[in-house]
Amino acid sequence: MNVAFLGLGRMGAAMARHVLDAGHDLRVWNRTPDKATDLVDAGATAAASPADAARGAEIVVVMLADPDAVRQVLLGPDGVTEGAATGTLVIDASTIGPAAAKEVSAALHERGLRYVDAPVLGSVAPARDGTLAVFAGGSEADYGDAEPLLRLWGDPAKVARVGEVGAASAVKLVINLTIAVATAGVGEALRLAADLGVDRQIALDALAVGPLGATVGSKRTMLEEEEYAPVGFSLDLLDKDLGLVVEAAHGDLPVTESVRAAVQEAVTAGHGDDDYAALAGYLAFEGRLNSY
Ligand code: NAP
Repeated sequence: MNVAFLGLGRMGAAMARHVLDAGHDLRVWNRTPDKATDLVDAGATAAASPADAARGAEIVVVMLADPDAVRQVLLGPDGVTEGAATGTLVIDASTIGPAAAKEVSAALHERGLRYVDAPVLGSVAPARDGTLAVFAGGSEADYGDAEPLLRLWGDPAKVARVGEVGAASAVKLVINLTIAVATAGVGEALRLAADLGVDRQIALDALAVGPLGATVGSKRTMLEEEEYAPVGFSLDLLDKDLGLVVEAAHGDLPVTESVRAAVQEAVTAGHGDDDYAALAGYLAFEGRLNSY
């Protein structure tokens, strides 16, 4: 199959590799062209623009930072709609929230293209291993056409259609709310541990067997060393997601809004390009803030 893959960041590069490894003809594009080098060396073709990448593609995948990037790459000048043939299926794996997914889908449909939102759960290591969870939203027919690619990225038991366009983006926001709240919870628990004179290792051991054990398990080394690298999921992107959560909610989410304030303070303090574990570290070891 002819596949175009646009957006070769931490997640996109790893996911595009599976498409190539499965034997598809792959054209790739990234705003910063250097990030395409490894894939081109492995057999992909570099495209000069999103429109160029989409020319002749049966499926176009986008894995981009946020709604504006998706709008620009799909609908902007030299965007996918300028190159894609009628009927081309766009799979959007970016986390952009349900409103943007529906808006982009409608704009593509007007131009004769099809759209499935397929945000993923899991970070860079599962993306490399092909063990992400993939939630998809779209018509049954479009999902059927997307599924063979989605299965390259995900554990088969964790690849599922959850409804029409936008449904998967909604599920993704629900999950990311919990990632943010859990991470802030670990940070505040470590702050309390320090206040009460509990040794950090003992506190981490105790937290590891509690309800936030999964968060502690995956971020323990970063919290021990207070070094939030290598980055899996950046704090800037978690900030973006909490903005989407608050925008999508039909009422107050006071805990989430409080966590969002903490995230924004940590970003302002210089942690935006760090792994999101920096949220816990910031709350535990840095500012003691009054605004949340
Ligand atoms: P990333 O490494 O920061 O990559 C972001 C990608 O978006 C890059 O290819 C970047 O291009 C591109 N981009 C940003 N703004 C653009 C614009 N205006 N026009 C064109 N391209 C633009 O992010 P990531 O971690 O791969 O995440 C990608 C998406 O997956 C995000 O929606 C994120 O929330 C979601 N996600 C991430 C994870 C994770 O663990 N990292 C897990 C699940 C879902 P440049 O290279 O030129 O900057």
